[in-house]
Amino acid sequence: MTPRHVRGFFIFKMRFPAGLRVKNGCNFRGRVLRIEQKRNRRLISMAFIRKLPDTPERLEHLKGGAGHLERYALLSPEEMLGAGTVCARMVLQPGCEVGEHTHHGNYEVYYFLSGHGVYRSNGETTTVDAGTVTFTGDGESHFLRNDGPEPLEFMAFVLNLPAQA
Ligand code: MN
Repeated sequence: MTPRHVRGFFIFKMRFPAGLRVKNGCNFRGRVLRIEQKRNRRLISMAFIRKLPDTPERLEHLKGGAGHLERYALLSPEEMLGAGTVCARMVLQPGCEVGEHTHHGNYEVYYFLSGHGVYRSNGETTTVDAGTVTFTGDGESHFLRNDGPEPLEFMAFVLNLPAQA
């Protein structure tokens, strides 16, 4: 253990009651602290406030689409604690696409912030721009292309289906 880890561990011990134990490593520098509650195995997370990274992840030919997608993750998949896999601000440059794909075991919400796009939902084509919300359910397909001159900016959330009882 480094001194920082030791110090973090004692802060943790003071702030949380007995019955909680650390599952993953403590890191108080902007990362989620994951705690496993012994009694019901439910994961809870520490609060954080931070900025998006200045530079996005660049995903080439996402789902076979033209060009690339720029992704600024709000949360990592681990930080979503099993609720889903994507919580991000996305940017498609002019001419770039998210190729047609079908969702399995999850669903996706897009919320468009700026720009202009062509969107296809289960084979039906429409246009999207600031304020548009789209929903793609389990077993459904979608496609997106920036057909305008400006970047097409949107939020994307891929969320898992509720666990079956
Ligand atoms: Mn999708």
